[in-house]
Amino acid sequence: MRRPIIAGNWKMHNTTEEARDLVTLLRPLVGTARAEVVVCPPFTAIAATVNAASGSNISVGAQDLFWEDKGAYTGEVSGPMLRDLGCRYVIIGHSERRQYFGETDAIVNKKLLAAYRNELLPIVCVGETLAEREAGHTLEVVGRQVREGLKGLETGQARDLVVAYEPVWAIGTGKTATAADAQEVIAYIRKTLGEMYGETAAAIRIQYGGSVKPENIAELMAQPDIDGALVGGASLDAVSFAAIVNYD
Ligand code: PGA
Repeated sequence: MRRPIIAGNWKMHNTTEEARDLVTLLRPLVGTARAEVVVCPPFTAIAATVNAASGSNISVGAQDLFWEDKGAYTGEVSGPMLRDLGCRYVIIGHSERRQYFGETDAIVNKKLLAAYRNELLPIVCVGETLAEREAGHTLEVVGRQVREGLKGLETGQARDLVVAYEPVWAIGTGKTATAADAQEVIAYIRKTLGEMYGETAAAIRIQYGGSVKPENIAELMAQPDIDGALVGGASLDAVSFAAIVNYD
């Protein structure tokens, strides 16, 4: 059985004080959730978030990491630094990183291996653009992102992996993929993982992301291969995020 995992990606929002306030509001609202609950603040608010979440069922993730552990890489943040702050998860290859910061599947792969090396649990994002979808290339693009991004990952490690399927055209646009469309692509991702990792693919959690809201979470979660959500905008409000976490 795969335990659902709902993660909030705060993106470039929340100062330390705002992060503390949000977690303080969230704690009692999600305390009995059956899903695993994760929030991913910007680097600067990680320490405050870990502190505010201490003793609760909320885990903390980072939104990115660098692939080297230390060195002359001005401005970057490494796996050991995130571990030091108390991070458990790390998002890798979000479409905004791919789109605005030139991250390729090869970079995603280096970051993935760095996460495992540092005992951080990766949430690897994949997804097609609108042009790719309209050209009928969705499965080919997503399949390539999975195969290239996970190169060198061993079967024993793959069990801890989380994949987030986020169609780029559904992120922050209010357009959600239909639950059936999301299921189709996520089933394909699981099939691809099966070709790579055999039976272990059945244990790997795959989230949907892109305009997830309290109104659409239940239908998404009712799909057989959807094991959770990566939530952007709606994770910035404690009541909305709690309503998503406590879907039924
Ligand atoms: P959104 O973002 O929920 O605001 O569409 C999702 C994401 O980018 O992870």
